[in-house]
Amino acid sequence: MPNIPVEKPGQEKYDIVFIGGGSGGVAGSRRAASYGAKVALIEISEKLGGTCVNVGCVPKKIMWHAADIADKIRHAEGYQFKGPGIGQPQFDWSAFKAQRDAYITRLNGIYGVNVAKEGVELHHGAARLLSPNEVQVTRLDGSKYTLKTDRVCIATGGRPTIPGDKVPGADLGITSDGFFELREQPKRVAVVGAGYIAVELAGVFNTLGSEVHMFTRGDTVLRTFDPTLQETLTGWMTHTGINFHHGSHVVRVEGKPGQTLTVHSDKGEVVEVDTLLWAIGRHANTEGLGLEELGVQLDKKGNIIVDEWQQSNVPGVFSLGDVSGKALLTPVAIAAARRLANRLFGGEKYKNDKLDYTSIATVVFSHPPIGTVGLTEPEARKKFGDENIKIYKSSFRALYFSMVPEEHKEPSVHKIICAGPEERVVGIHIIGLGSDEITQGFAVALKMGATKDDLDNTVAIHPTSGEELVTLR
Ligand code: FAD
Ligand code: NDP
Repeated sequence: MPNIPVEKPGQEKYDIVFIGGGSGGVAGSRRAASYGAKVALIEISEKLGGTCVNVGCVPKKIMWHAADIADKIRHAEGYQFKGPGIGQPQFDWSAFKAQRDAYITRLNGIYGVNVAKEGVELHHGAARLLSPNEVQVTRLDGSKYTLKTDRVCIATGGRPTIPGDKVPGADLGITSDGFFELREQPKRVAVVGAGYIAVELAGVFNTLGSEVHMFTRGDTVLRTFDPTLQETLTGWMTHTGINFHHGSHVVRVEGKPGQTLTVHSDKGEVVEVDTLLWAIGRHANTEGLGLEELGVQLDKKGNIIVDEWQQSNVPGVFSLGDVSGKALLTPVAIAAARRLANRLFGGEKYKNDKLDYTSIATVVFSHPPIGTVGLTEPEARKKFGDENIKIYKSSFRALYFSMVPEEHKEPSVHKIICAGPEERVVGIHIIGLGSDEITQGFAVALKMGATKDDLDNTVAIHPTSGEELVTLR
């Protein structure tokens, strides 16, 4: 890290110690220090930034862009581009990995500089709570020291789940962490799972030319999303050549590391691949923190239980971000952390600041991308009753695809769910070109309580895909 971590405490006592230098810990520590609080940040890894920067959002989105360019090269013929390579993307995975890694290393440095600039004292080591007011740091060389503090905020994130001994040979597979270590593009891949990570990474592999098999427990991907999105994306992923093994559980994996793996399912399917990727959810990092001894309560899944103020059951011990298990998204960790710091150190103006976890917008970087905010159709029907719900929906092809062959024309579907006589917009679910960028503004509208009339009264921007949302009938 460029701002060399300190080797011993610089303060006799801190106002707050953040554990975990990821999205939440970095944002919270910087915001707290900006108010003049005495702040320490403890990070176990040599790389600041946590999951998002190192093995999450950022390198993932870069890979999504690479895949998107591969698609654009395929489409270029339709726009009458000629010449060698047009129509046939050739991707140098290993060169790109090196370039991507170098960018992430730069980001790690920028994070270090920003933390230092704000006056946060950075400690490098594993943190463990000895009491609500004492945090022990174990450095890489095994030496230990203790920080005294008024408060602690645990933001240690999570890690990918692997079925371990439940599935013989499971350890031959990799997780999303391993995806970012791949030096070569595997020719054949099996992806287990149907959530965000499975969909996004299977999409990258497939679009860049790997043969992809997806093992899903259900009949569609993204089963917690609105059914229209599930069906549209599953249909298009199938169309683009992903081999789905629906309703199928991987029960055994055979092979040797670095060689062909044979994947067996409970339905008798046998698939040979170069890489198997588990994308079956994540588990909170709570081990070794001394939480049991302190009596910090965890839920059944192992997440730290906090109230609306990010406060655990132990006074002075706060937690936020992935380790507290609610909406595992970078902006959520950041927003919760900044609000906590505002409330604790920002004075009268922020004395009631806290994160509202309702109607958080999210994007899945699938091919095509998905944007969603608010209630799904089944959730809205349950909450308001069938008779109080009105659905507006449009299926179309973005203008961009008018010039490309039929097989490449990605679908777009925009759906709005309205409730009550005033038709308040309670859910917006879109898939198709540009959905990743369209969603943010509409999330503001939904959060402000927009009605269908408000959308109708907004003059469209033409020609765009987003205009569909203000012209639905
Ligand atoms: P983290 O960022 O995980 O940070 C926790 C930090 O704590 C780590 O640096 C860890 O080393 C450190 N730590 C752990 N234990 C200790 C200890 N005992 N002592 C000291 N330090 C410790 N979210 C989005 O919003 N958009 C996306 O596009 C997106 N894509 C993703 C793609 C992938 C493949 C993955 C895995 C996640 C993605 N996410 C995305 C989710 C996002 O990365 C997380 O929600 C976010 O990083 C959570 O931040 P956090 O601060 O809670 O934890
Ligand atoms: P998700 O919760 O999104 O999905 C988990 C998937 O694993 C589900 O499809 C589930 O299947 C499946 N699953 C669970 N257990 C098993 C099992 N034993 N066998 C087979 N399948 C199983 O988790 P992810 O790991 O994909 O991502 C973790 C979180 O990270 C996300 O929830 C999201 O918050 C965040 N993230 C955000 C991104 C973004 O903002 N774009 C991108 C990547 C991650 P089933 O459908 O049957 O329930």
